[in-house]
Amino acid sequence: MNPKNLPPGLHRDTLAVRAGIERSQHGENSEALYLTSGFVQPDAETAARRFAAVGDGYTYGRTSNPTVTSFEQRLAAMEGTEAAIGASTGMGAILMMCMGLLKAGDHVICSRSVFGSTMNLLGREFGKFGVETTFVSQTDISEWRAALRPTTKLLFAETPTNPLTDVCDIQALADLAHNAGALLAVDNCFCSPALQRPVEMGADLVIHSGTKYLDGQGRVMAGAVCGPSRLIVDVFGPVVRTAGMTLSPFNAWVVLKGLETLGIRMQAQCANALAFAQWLQTHPKVSRVYYPGLASHPQHALAMRQQSGQGGAVVSFDVVGGDPVAARTNAFHVIDSTQVVSIATNLGDTKTIITHPATTSHGRLTEDQRQAAGIGQGLIRVAVGLEHVDDIKADLLRGLDSLR
Ligand SMILES: *Cc1c(COP(=O)(O)O)cnc(C)c1O
Repeated sequence: MNPKNLPPGLHRDTLAVRAGIERSQHGENSEALYLTSGFVQPDAETAARRFAAVGDGYTYGRTSNPTVTSFEQRLAAMEGTEAAIGASTGMGAILMMCMGLLKAGDHVICSRSVFGSTMNLLGREFGKFGVETTFVSQTDISEWRAALRPTTKLLFAETPTNPLTDVCDIQALADLAHNAGALLAVDNCFCSPALQRPVEMGADLVIHSGTKYLDGQGRVMAGAVCGPSRLIVDVFGPVVRTAGMTLSPFNAWVVLKGLETLGIRMQAQCANALAFAQWLQTHPKVSRVYYPGLASHPQHALAMRQQSGQGGAVVSFDVVGGDPVAARTNAFHVIDSTQVVSIATNLGDTKTIITHPATTSHGRLTEDQRQAAGIGQGLIRVAVGLEHVDDIKADLLRGLDSLR
């Protein structure tokens, strides 16, 4: 029911507000929210065709919904992929992808600094079903190459990583995957399509947690996989239909509207984050700042190339502290001295969020896994929002200045 076919060649900013509109007969300007679990069929014959998945038309909410379709089409347009499919959460999207692509005996290569739940899903849960995952360095391509096996089906990367913002070379990993007959999936949560389009650099699939920047205001959980129709429609569609990690229409609607402001939010939050990171670098109680937008970042040049010249909006830093206990005490002091920013574990919100990764987002990893990922007890992650940057600095300065 798309009354206006959009002309080709529109800018991403335009697609963000115009792509994927399923306008009803009422002609609403803001996208409709179809809050319904089922769809009435005009007749038995049509119903039979639709349920056999050959006809256009909606049948049941676990399979598809017009609001979810709008979100999927808009996100695909922004990522530059043929198609996208929604999921209940970012982890639901990764689960859907793995269920669709992998079977017992298959092998996966994954960076060892990806999101903690992703490591557990691949290593622990899929390990139970005979899928083996090798975890390798985020940045050392030779480790990825050495890990390849004849059974390798998937390379999984996340860039920049959470919370240390390590950046991997998407093009190099795509070449490696394709030469080995494998696929490359990139978790694009930290940059969003506003900054980084992994398929332009050769990635096959793009993963999103819509919970983060796509919603952008910390309201709902959502996820998506973007990629070619042959995988989205023919492989992942059946997984969602049978396994049920379906994106709710309400959440799809919230995230759909979030996409309209994604570009301007990302620009403003990146600018805040850069100013904040530059300031942190000058504080004597901060021993190291992790932010791709800083010249001191080990992959600064690569990040600027891959991420539209932007560092993203997540800044992590180590506070001083001689041993892990002292470092944790200091980190907790800085966090507990804030009065404006939120102590939480989400990111991608307009509200700045401060996190102690070692005891929260990465708290379920073993100490060995945390060490391997380089996440110390003095590490603090700040997901910079839209408050005035001077207020964010002042909020952190209170704790930093009163450290012993
Ligand atoms: C949050 C996050 C996820 C998981 O998304 P949920 O919506 O919380 O399930 C996956 N990858 C990255 C990089 C994330 O930050």
